[in-house]
Amino acid sequence: MTLFEGARLIVGDGTPPIENSAFIVQGNLFTRIGRKGDLRTPAGARRIDLTGKTVMPALIDAHVHLGYRKGLSFSADNYTRATILDTLDRFAYCGVAAVLEAGTGRGDLPFEIRRDARAGARYLTAGQGFAMPNAGPGVPMRDSAIGVTSETQAREDVRTLTQKHPDLIKIWVDDRNGTVEKLRPPLYRAIIDEAHAHGVRVMAHIAALADAKELLRAGIDGFGHVVRDRDVDDELLALLKARPKVFFVETLWGERQAIYQGKPGWIDAPFVHDLLSPEEVTSLAESFSSTASPAPAQRESAQRLLRNVATLNAAGVVLGLGTDTGGVTGGQYFGLASLIELELMVKAGLTPAQAIVAATRNSAEILRLQELGALAVGKSADFLVLDANPLDDIANIRRISSVYSRGGEINRAALRRRWVGR
Ligand SMILES: [Zn+2]
Repeated sequence: MTLFEGARLIVGDGTPPIENSAFIVQGNLFTRIGRKGDLRTPAGARRIDLTGKTVMPALIDAHVHLGYRKGLSFSADNYTRATILDTLDRFAYCGVAAVLEAGTGRGDLPFEIRRDARAGARYLTAGQGFAMPNAGPGVPMRDSAIGVTSETQAREDVRTLTQKHPDLIKIWVDDRNGTVEKLRPPLYRAIIDEAHAHGVRVMAHIAALADAKELLRAGIDGFGHVVRDRDVDDELLALLKARPKVFFVETLWGERQAIYQGKPGWIDAPFVHDLLSPEEVTSLAESFSSTASPAPAQRESAQRLLRNVATLNAAGVVLGLGTDTGGVTGGQYFGLASLIELELMVKAGLTPAQAIVAATRNSAEILRLQELGALAVGKSADFLVLDANPLDDIANIRRISSVYSRGGEINRAALRRRWVGR
């Protein structure tokens, strides 16, 4: 049993923080939460002084791709248990308590890793997603998708997949700038209908407003990206109002070069150098400087994306944290991107408190992780201890002092030694 005293406590539900808090963790759960002085130290309890620190719930990243990226390489040859476990450690290091592998799993390995729940970040998986043949995720992940051409086959493949109990089912409805065929509406209607008949929700990769609308009419449960081709309009908002549980994860990280328009200051922060090799830092830094003046079309597209996030937020639509890390645009910046995504949400007009709610409570609801998403009695003790208050400046979310997972502290120093040798 441990008593943590003195921290500012951000619950994760948008309520004002509890100043000078005290909370008790027993085993892996929060068992008491209150103010310092109100909670007596139970006999035999350890006591940890967190005066001056801020405590908040661990984050949840509902859109990642694991197994393909390892250092600077990006290949299906990397797809091993060791690669995925190392990646999960990177999330845990950054205070991410759970991730959803968004439909680029290969074979049974994702389900085996999910079953062998270990300490650190939880691994949820959509297994393999659905697209027209050879028209799903970007290369080298493309062959992981199930290609479908008939409704009968699509329904049969959904039934086979649901036997493995995927946490969600993923579909790709995107022509990739006219290079592939989008999943046809009769096929995705069959997939959504069959998935729902088996109690599984469906999340769509989209880019276009028209596709988002048609998918809503077909009963889609959520979106892995925000509309990017046009401004969100009243018709979409009306469709969303009728379906208040439908969610969007923003994946703003994927558009980081056009959003920042130059090298962001955090590249030079010690935090980045503790996580990435010098070569990876250089490559990340160069990716920003080479696009110091992104093409007007890219800039316009990024501005539209930020506007659309703001519109959805103002309309009260459920927004969750997703980064696409490990995929084509996300790069190998596992964990780091999840933290930066909150800064990008704030650039889109969310308040820091709203960004935190999106990354904690909302993402936990999206993934149906009832034990996560808030600092509350009975929830799993997964939390971040920060040196400064992220409600004042969302950049403070990167000033991590320690991370707890299921009541135990993550040994971040050991992980740092593994990755960068110090
Ligand atoms: Zn993705």
